[in-house]
Amino acid sequence: MFKAIFAVVAAMSLGSAAVAQSGEADSGDTRWSIAIHGGAGTIKRDKITPEQDRDIRAALSQALAAGSKILKDGGTALDAITATIMVLEDNPNFNAGKGAVFTWDRTNELDTSIMDGSDLSAGAVAGINGTKNPILLARAVKDHSPHVMLSGEGANQFSREQGLEQVTPDYYSTPRRLQQIEAVLAKEISAADVDYKFGTVGAVAQDRSGNMAAGTSTGGMTGKRWGRIGDSPIIGAGTYADNRSCAISATGSGEYFIRLGVAHEICARIRMRFSEAIKEAQLTVPKDKDDNYSYAIHASEFQLPDEEIQQIADDVIAELGELGGDGGIIYATPWGQAGYSFNTAGMYRGRATSEGEMGVAIYGDEE
Ligand code: ASP
Repeated sequence: MFKAIFAVVAAMSLGSAAVAQSGEADSGDTRWSIAIHGGAGTIKRDKITPEQDRDIRAALSQALAAGSKILKDGGTALDAITATIMVLEDNPNFNAGKGAVFTWDRTNELDTSIMDGSDLSAGAVAGINGTKNPILLARAVKDHSPHVMLSGEGANQFSREQGLEQVTPDYYSTPRRLQQIEAVLAKEISAADVDYKFGTVGAVAQDRSGNMAAGTSTGGMTGKRWGRIGDSPIIGAGTYADNRSCAISATGSGEYFIRLGVAHEICARIRMRFSEAIKEAQLTVPKDKDDNYSYAIHASEFQLPDEEIQQIADDVIAELGELGGDGGIIYATPWGQAGYSFNTAGMYRGRATSEGEMGVAIYGDEE
């Protein structure tokens, strides 16, 4: 373990030359990364038509391209994830914005949140409708209200006062979502079966200035009643961003994500592991004749390796599974890593980095 950490320090101290060489796709001087999701669930090859497969991949690529361009051009992580999520909200294939699922009363109640890792500012809305792009409303709450979370009619009123684009209730509706709610109400299938392909959308990013951001947007669960609110608008459960550790957006059975505080839990473990790893690395530094370390390891020249980040995310998702929850998360770190962890058959997902990585995937067996 000590060796592995020391190897990272050595690699880092070898300098940015190595990083610059491998970053062929982007000659900028600092790293950026973005990861996106469009929901997790029983996403298997035999359940998805070739047309659906093609449409989903095209939509994920389009969303990823929108966010990547902003980051590549030096824009903020917050702007990148906002633009990315808007593309997915506008696409009827996902359960957010247009294409949001119906409640028991055949209405739409949308849940969304956004967080800026540079100052831990956050905005969220729950059970709203009427706003075309709910992520803009979450962002307006963050930027233009003294609050973190607004709900229902009050949030709708705030949206109108902010001058956000409004739509009539039928805007969100699609034939597929109508069919799903009718099937649930006719008790042909359970709400859980319908929702097993969840469809929530989210994005996380790190920009060239090292700032992190995360956002999540959803229609919730088909047939939800009694004003049910899931994890997506809850800071710390479905969304979290902190420049010191990571940015997370989740999708899955919201109740379990809330109980485990999944998004914050992953960031907290990364933050604590990072400070522990620096201390461990310092112990490996040679000492001079006065018994002082010959150099001090600074946080700015240190990073956690990919495997450790992945392990932390996988551990939390494993605990979610033990509780009975299904779903997954996407992550970005302050060290340029972007990735996923999920315990379902598949997750609509994609990632891009300044190091030239770029790709979208659907099934669990894809890279
Ligand atoms: N997590 C969302 C919720 O529980 C559902 C989803 O991810 O699709 O509302």
